[in-house]
Formats: sequence, C-alpha cells, structure tokens
Amino acid sequence: MNMYDTEVAEGLLQNQGMQILSSFDETAGTLPGIAYSPFPEADVILMNTCSIREHAEERVFGRLGLLKEAKRVQPELIIGLMGCMVEEHREKLFQKYPHLDLMVGTRNISELPALIEEVRKERKQVARIKQEGISIEYTDQIKRAGSYHAWLPVMTGCNKVCTFCIVPITRGSEVSMPAREVYREASRLVDDGVRWITLLGQNVNSYDGRKAEDGRRKEGQNPSAAGLHPSAAFPELLDTLCQIEGLERISFTTSHPSDATEELYRVIAKNPKISRRFHLPLQSGANPVLKRMKRLHTYEEFKQKIDSMRRWIPEISVTTDIIAGFCGETEQDHQDTLRALGELCFDDAYIYKYSTRPGTPASKLADDVPISIKEQRNRELLELQKTIRQRNNEQLLGETFEVFVEEISPKDPSQLRGRTQAEKTVVFPGPQSLLGSFQKVKFRALRHETFLGILEAEPAEKAHL
Ligand code: SAH
Repeated sequence: MNMYDTEVAEGLLQNQGMQILSSFDETAGTLPGIAYSPFPEADVILMNTCSIREHAEERVFGRLGLLKEAKRVQPELIIGLMGCMVEEHREKLFQKYPHLDLMVGTRNISELPALIEEVRKERKQVARIKQEGISIEYTDQIKRAGSYHAWLPVMTGCNKVCTFCIVPITRGSEVSMPAREVYREASRLVDDGVRWITLLGQNVNSYDGRKAEDGRRKEGQNPSAAGLHPSAAFPELLDTLCQIEGLERISFTTSHPSDATEELYRVIAKNPKISRRFHLPLQSGANPVLKRMKRLHTYEEFKQKIDSMRRWIPEISVTTDIIAGFCGETEQDHQDTLRALGELCFDDAYIYKYSTRPGTPASKLADDVPISIKEQRNRELLELQKTIRQRNNEQLLGETFEVFVEEISPKDPSQLRGRTQAEKTVVFPGPQSLLGSFQKVKFRALRHETFLGILEAEPAEKAHL
C-alpha cells in the first residue's frame, strides 16, 4: 500500500514540475564533524512511514534526528512525513521535531503539492490529517515503477479486532472502492500497457462493494455495464476483473482468514488469470495465543481453511505471517507454532518478533516474553521455515512453468527475470524482445529463493508456424 501511495505522491509532485530523486542515502554525511545532508541537491525530503512494528518507527525517528543536522546546512529544506506514523502521532511530532515542516495523512495525499507550496511560502509547520473516508487515490498522474505491473488498492482499513495490531487506529474502519471504479481503473491500466495487477487492501478479501464510500457514488454510473453489482464482494470483484481483455494476471494481498471462503477458492480455481499464490496470516499455532490475539479462529479451523484451499486449487502456493513472542507465549505455545509450520508446509513466512503498539488492546497486557527469548524463537521459526521452503522449491526442479517475463535481471543484463503463476521468481537467458510476454521456462537449479531456468524450445511444428 505504501509503495502505491509513494507512486501517487511522486506522480502528483512530478506533475507540478518537481524532479524525483532516488531514495534516501542513510550513510551520507554522517562522518563526525560534518553536517549531515543525505541529498544536498534536494529541496524537499518526504518519508512515507509505517507503524506496524516498532522497528519501522525507530528508523524514521532516527532519520528525523539526522535531518535536523541537514537543515542546519540547508535551512530552506522542507522535511515531510506521510503514511501511518502521521495518523498515529499527529501534531505531537511537530513539538518533538521542530524542524519537521509537513505532515500529510493517508487520506490526504492529493493535497501534498498544495501543502508543500504552503510551507514554501509561509515557512510554518502544516499538517493535513483527515479522520474519515478512504485513502485511495486513483490518478493517471501516478508515477508507476513497473511497465507491466501495477498496484491497485481496492479497500482500506480494518474492522477486525486483533489485539496486537495498530491498523484499525491508523487506517480506520474498512472502506471499499465502488466496484465499477475499480473496474474502470483496472481497464485504464490495461490500456496503458499493464498486464498484471495486484489488488491491495489491509484485508483485501474483506472487500465489500456495499461498504463503498457513499460520497463516491455518482449519478449515472451504471454498474451493470461492467457486469458488476454495486454490492459485489471480493470473489465477485475478482471474477469480473478476469473478464478484462489484455489483463493477464491478478494477484491480491493481504487476506484475512475470516474472509478466506470456499466461494473465493472456487473463483480462483476456475480463473487461470488469478495468481496461484495465497498469503494468509496464521500469527501463531497455539490456540491460547490465537485467543489472546483475538484472531477469531482456532489453529484447527485455520488448518481446515488451508486444506480446503488446497483441495480446490491443488497448485496453490501458500505463504503466511507469524508473530514470535506475543504476550504470555509459553515454550509450549512456541512448540505448537513450530509444529504448525511443519504441518502446513507454507512456501514462505514473514516471521517477526512481537512489539507493543501504543493504543492497541495488547498494549494493556504484559509484554512478558524477554527479548532474548523472542529472538531465539524468531530464529528457530525462521530456520525451520527456510528448510520447508527449500524442500518445497526443490520439488519444482526439472518442471516447466509458464512465466511472465517482467524485466531484465538487475544482476545480469544477459538474463531475463520473470515469475510463475505461483509467483516463483526465475532468471533465464533470453532476448529482450520477450519482455512483457508469457514463456515456458524449465527450472534447472535453485539459488537461494530464485530459480535458474532455461527457455523451453518450441515444438518444431509450432515454431514453424
Ligand atoms: N490484516 C491481515 C494482514 C496483516 S499484515 C491479517 O490480519 O491477517 C500485517 C502483519 O504484521 C500481520 O500479519 C502481523 O504478522 C504483523 N504485525 C502486526 N502487528 C504486529 C506487532 N505489534 N508486532 C509484530 N508484528 C505485527
């Protein structure tokens, strides 16, 4: 979501005649006695922030501290923050960091160019942080990073009650974009050369056209024109987007287990355009922990969902999120999570140590797993998952997959890089003319998580045609 918001911000600013410089150089000018300046040539430095874990916030606070030095040598510099930390901390940050000029909330990105102008003219701290509504801005001014791939947010916010999570505080309640607007934007992207869209949402599969923001329902828009009912739920939305000619692949992230239904699996199973990678966060394999997290399901119920998904879509690649060392997690709970990883055989897992987030229900519980234990459990989970991933991946060696050729390999310009329908990355030698096309590639070796492949020769008669 932040990548999409950054692309929107860059597009809007570029359209105002600004030039976008590359990303932040953390090492620049930090030598003792030399004033810090990461971008001596920049007039504005913006950081798009995340609040999900404490570590992400600490890095931003660290950079804000360093930027105080930069402002000493460049007094005209404008320093701004976007993203969830703005929603979480609001104007308090202005007192703590007097050199911070600008804060723009997740629902106010379109006001960014005007706010920068305001700071430039009046040289005072300005913030625009709207509490209500949706933070999605569809704009053709977006500066997309990829030629063939695009992010497409369809809903924001969260109505779930997970005790560890700050999202309901920073992003508010669930709000969906009207289905016809999603359809129109997807079609526009395809007209612009995009072949692959990733639908985004904090709980993307909780998308609900009925909850589409009222203010965005305009007269005269006929949903049936796109075959869409205004109350489309996520499976229906996916199904309809598959009808867009020229759109070859659709991914989505992140799903919440509560809305991972058989109806959704059925739609995926019958549509080869839908990615065969399904990310479904488990968080813990221990029922007492899941209960304290208010995850709304037991481990057994989660496992049933995965079993059912694999029955409907046997080739599906499932990935997950795990939190290590949540409040009150015992050694037995940790063992249960290790056992769950062994049982469910995820293709990958994002495993992170628990950190308390201010204002969440869990912030009232004792964060009682010592950091050394959290680190050890985190390491054990990562090691086990690495073995499982390796085993799963090795089973694919020797097989041939249809690969979407996305780019020239950043590490070796003689190679191309692409991804399979299950979003496995493969690099293989081939001509640049294949960019943007689907090719059959045989997996011949594995280097870490990347496969090394070879283009499968066309059958003689087909090549002849
Ligand atoms: N809404 C989806 C996905 C959330 S993605 C769901 O609930 O299933 C965000 C991920 O960040 C979560 O799955 C969780 O693993 C992680 N996370 C959230 N809050 C955290 C915290 N306080 N400490 C550590 N990890 C956290």
